[in-house]
Amino acid sequence: MNTNRDYYEILGISKNASQDEIKAAYRKLALKYHPDRNPDNKEAEEKFKEAATAYEILSDPDKRKQYDQFGHAGVEGSMGGGPRDMDMEDIFEHFGDIFGDIFGMGRRQARRKSGPTPKRGHDLSQELQITLKDSFTGTKKDIGIYQFVPCENCDGKGMEKGTTAQSCERCAGTGQIQFKQGFFMYSQPCDVCHGAGFIIPKPCKTCKGQSRVQKFDKFTITIPKGIFNGAELRISGKGDAGVYGGQTGDLFIHITVRPDKTFSRVDDDLVCTIMLTYPQLVLGSQIDIESIDGTKEPIKIPKGCPVGEKIIIPGKGFQRLRNKSYGNLVVITNCHIPKKLSADAKKLLVEYSEQIGTTTDSQEGSITSFFKKFLG
Ligand SMILES: [Zn+2]
Ligand SMILES: [Zn+2]
Repeated sequence: MNTNRDYYEILGISKNASQDEIKAAYRKLALKYHPDRNPDNKEAEEKFKEAATAYEILSDPDKRKQYDQFGHAGVEGSMGGGPRDMDMEDIFEHFGDIFGDIFGMGRRQARRKSGPTPKRGHDLSQELQITLKDSFTGTKKDIGIYQFVPCENCDGKGMEKGTTAQSCERCAGTGQIQFKQGFFMYSQPCDVCHGAGFIIPKPCKTCKGQSRVQKFDKFTITIPKGIFNGAELRISGKGDAGVYGGQTGDLFIHITVRPDKTFSRVDDDLVCTIMLTYPQLVLGSQIDIESIDGTKEPIKIPKGCPVGEKIIIPGKGFQRLRNKSYGNLVVITNCHIPKKLSADAKKLLVEYSEQIGTTTDSQEGSITSFFKKFLG
């Protein structure tokens, strides 16, 4: 499947299409390429799957937002997980919502079953808090999660080794018993196989025929550099194992970035404030500051630098997830006002204030007396 085609293009809709428009577009394509209408047509099947994948993403507001921001990478996970392949079971699963009785019911229940149908496992989700430094440098985190894994005793088949499932004789494998009442045909789930269409004569004792068991799993995940607060990481194949050998679901990690005392993030810029002395601001200065990851960054304070000036160090901010370029480090200047001064420093400052007082004393009351009042 050409998974790189734009999802909006696949459905033939605009980027700001409403949910109703998305649904209508998908419905049209799904009807056109439905396997019942295109038997043994591989191309139609591919188009059918492609439309279903596009619909799955765009009909989910969260996934759509991710896709709008990051393109295919946003919905395929930044962990290098492959594109999400929808199987036919997944697609028909959604049909009930969209098509009601056009296809949904008819197609699934008319199938004759001789054994369980593999079904994709659920996606799981977990919250993860990281520091701002973690998001700047990227990191690895241990994750512990309860998840379904294939039962080892029966190799995920749900039945004792050496036994097989059998098609239900009572309903001929359809799972439904039909009966007539007046002019109408009715159907109800088969009372022998409970609608499954098959019987497992010897269910596995370990998983009680469920084909999978719950287990606590621990593993390490990689948090990419530049991840932002509220981001969602998709880890392919770390959700619940599928039922009867179905595809494993995915794990979604919701990232919360804790605020930092010294640094903050604005878009992709790393921002901090530095305290400088009055002479440093007036005379200019060359100093080293320590960035969030501990690296030293030399910065130049220009002569006559005002308080609140933004000094920009290009390329030393957060890595952008999309194109791997970097934001800037933005250092905002502030002036440190000492609470205590040595007698000598005080004397010099008074002298200095008298100096500038002679040139700037144009307001009511002299600056000199104003300083003297405070400095004693
Ligand atoms: Zn039956
Ligand atoms: Zn088992």
